[in-house]
Order: sequence, then C-alpha cells, then structure tokens
Amino acid sequence: MVLSTSNGASPTVYLETYGCQMNIADSELVSGVLRAAGYSNAESPENADVILLNTCAIRDHAEERVLGRLSVLAQLKSRRPEVRLGLLGCMAQHNRARLIEQAPYLDLVAGPDTYRRLPELIRSARFDPAVDLRLDRNETYAGLPSQREGGVRAYVTAMRGCDKFCAFCVVPYVRGRERSVPAAALIREIGELAEHGVKEVVLLGQTVNAYRDGDVDFGKLLRKVAAIDGLERIRFTSPHPSDMSDSVIEAMATEPKVQPYLHLPVQSGSDRVLAAMARGYTTGEYLDLVARLRGAIPGLALSTDIIVGFHGEEEADFEATLELMTEIAYDSAFTFKYSLRQNTGAYKLGDTVSEAEKSRRLSAVIALQEAISLERNRATIGAEYPVLVEGPARRGQGMLAGKAPQFKTAVFPARSGVVPGQTVRVRIESATAHSLTGVQV
Ligand code: SAM
Ligand code: SF4
Repeated sequence: MVLSTSNGASPTVYLETYGCQMNIADSELVSGVLRAAGYSNAESPENADVILLNTCAIRDHAEERVLGRLSVLAQLKSRRPEVRLGLLGCMAQHNRARLIEQAPYLDLVAGPDTYRRLPELIRSARFDPAVDLRLDRNETYAGLPSQREGGVRAYVTAMRGCDKFCAFCVVPYVRGRERSVPAAALIREIGELAEHGVKEVVLLGQTVNAYRDGDVDFGKLLRKVAAIDGLERIRFTSPHPSDMSDSVIEAMATEPKVQPYLHLPVQSGSDRVLAAMARGYTTGEYLDLVARLRGAIPGLALSTDIIVGFHGEEEADFEATLELMTEIAYDSAFTFKYSLRQNTGAYKLGDTVSEAEKSRRLSAVIALQEAISLERNRATIGAEYPVLVEGPARRGQGMLAGKAPQFKTAVFPARSGVVPGQTVRVRIESATAHSLTGVQV
C-alpha cells in the first residue's frame, strides 16, 4: 500500500540532498526505495506530496543551512498542511528528538539506517511525527535498487559507518559502526551499471579502504571490480591513511582501470594535533605513505582534507600544516574551520581558537593551496591525457568537459561525433588552479 493522494494519482516526493558523496548515494537509494513503493519524483517542493531533506551533521554550518531551509518549507506546509515534511540522514540522527522541538512541523525524522522502512514511516506520520533513529550494525542496503541520475560515472557505496572515532568527528555516532556491502552484491550492481553504459565507478565509504568481506579486502575488491567488462575507470573515496595497505597500493599500481588519483585526508601537519585528533598516524608515517604511493603509481594526483583551529592548535602547529602542504604539494585540498560537535571525543574540551583566528588560518591554507594547485596544473601543459567525456562544459560555448585520470577537469572544443562516455586524447594548453584547457589530438 502506498500513500494515497486526494485525486488518486501516485504520490510524489521531492528530495533535497546536503553534504557528502555518501549522502548523494543515499538519496539515490531513498529514491529507489520510494519508487518501488509507488512514488514518483516531484520537480519542486511546491507540487510534492512528500518533501524530504537528506542532511549532513559534519559541521555546524551544514546544520544551520538545513534549519534555514526547513523554516522556508514550513511556510509551504502551513499553506498545504497535507504535505509531509521529513528530515533524513546524519542531522536527524545527531539531533534526534530535539529536532521535533526545534521544528514541530516535521512529520518525519529518520536516521541513515532506516531507509528500507521509509514508505511505512511516511504512511504512519499522519497525525503524530514518525521518528526512527535505530542504527543497525548489519544494514548495508545490499541489493536494494538505487535510482541514479545517469551519466558516465556512478557512485556506489561499498562500506558504511566508521570505527575510527577521530576526536572531532560525528560520523561514527550518526552513521554507526563500520560494515561492508558483500562483494558479490557489489560486483552484481557494478556489472549492471556497466551494462547500462556507466564507464566509471567511484566506490564510497567513510574509510573505504577498511573494506572487508571474508577474505576480500579492499585491494582484492578493486581487482574484482576491475575484471568487470565494459567498465573503464575505478576510483574510490575516502581512504584512511592507516588502512592504506600494500594490497591496496599494489592494486592501484597494477590495475590499469584504477585511476591515479587519491584523496588522502591528513587533517593537520602537527604531530601534537594529530595525536589529539586521534587520527592514528604521525606526519612521518603519512609522508612515508605518500612516498610509497608516489613511487608505486606514476603520475599520481593527491588531494586532502585540512582542519584549522582544532582544540589546542597553536600558531606553531598551524605553521607545521602549511609546511606539510608545501612539502607534499597536493593537487587540491578541502579546507575547513574546526566546528565543535556534540557527542564527539573533543566536544568537552571546547574551542581554544577564536572564530577570527580560524578564519585567518583558513584563508592562509586556501591561498597556499591555490598557488600549489595552479603550479601543479600548469605543470601538465603540453601533456596529453585520455579524457572521459562527460558532456558540455559549464562555461564556454561549444566546449566539452571530462576528467583526466588524475580527476582534473579538462575542457576542450567539441568535435562533431564526440559523445559523453567516449574517451578522447586531449593535449593540455593552459591551466587554472581548478581546471585544464586543451585540444583533442
Ligand atoms: N572519513 C574521512 C577521513 O577520515 O578522511 C573523512 C570524512 S568527513 C565526512 C570529511 C571531512 O570533514 C574530514 O576529513 C574533516 O576534514 C572534515 N570534518 C569532520 N569533522 C569536522 C569538524 N568537526 N569540523 C571541521 N571539519 C570536520
Ligand atoms: Fe570521521 Fe575519522 Fe571516521 Fe573519517 S575516519 S569519518 S574523520 S571518525
């Protein structure tokens, strides 16, 4: 039984997604579950029977954005009280029943392990709000059909949750403990995607390289995925430095389909701060790992995550982060101001760096990374790369865009007959800090 609408038509759902790639993949899963239950997609909240926000709790800013959006949607609900408004995902799990007090117009609050039950939860949210925040150690959603956007690249969740408990991070509390999708289910799913024209798959997990199903570790999984006919490129995100085993490095080095790009979050360049963060490695160990990776995988591009202003970060610690960034010369970096998160190990320690100082440090890491990215990208001028065409470039009439193996966006003039999904050779002629421009050769 599905939710019925006043005119008897199939009910519609409008789903908005905040946060990381994993949330985007979860939204595709939610869409798949709801489609199987008879829902169709609404183009806008104005004409939807059900409005769902899939949310992120990683930083305060992410939660503020959602609360702002909710108050706008509450006005819509006051005009159309029959609309069911729900909050899904990490912020639902993080703020729990408190949300119903903050936003009493919510009909539904559901955590990341409850998506199988969503159709039923929506139905039961008729008079009282439905709240389901059970975390399930065994839930991997294996075999559930996702409703994907389409395109040449598909994001596939390989493992869920996290067991690392870094002192700043809310993920283990809101997404639960680590668990891997069985390899057979993953291979089946990716095989079907390849049959439907997907050329590149990105395996997802908060610590994706901690993947394990029996004797299949992440290195073995990469090799199994590489054996799938029709699939051309494999990527994954985010690996944790401590789980970067020889098996994974070897698979990256020897399987041509596994692309030479790695997002390897370092967080800080100070050993003191890394220890306080409970990251599980020192800068020395991280640098050794980078050297091994660069030695084994020619042309490897690296990106990272950096947090500035963690509890106790002194000027000298911050300087050490700038030094590490300069030494490693990442191709790109995602940079964040530390945001105190309830429930985490460091929560009770509080903030020691002022907001203004965090902003100053953030501006400095961004400026440094821009300069390094520009230099790294300029070094590609004259080189030729196989570029997997994705479609028209966002800017530039008559230009196509795609990714080089290093996950850098390459833009080039369209030639007739070149279509998305095709791989063409592009010679790079110019570069900015964020993209490469070239010609097809
Ligand atoms: N599991 C990945 C790892 O450990 O490398 C990262 C997942 S997390 C969703 C993405 C990034 O958000 C982290 O690498 C970290 O830089 C940042 N982050 C997490 N908690 C944060 C916090 N409390 N304040 C600021 N940034 C945070
Ligand atoms: Fe958060 Fe650390 Fe787990 Fe990454 S490894 S999701 S930063 S707890």
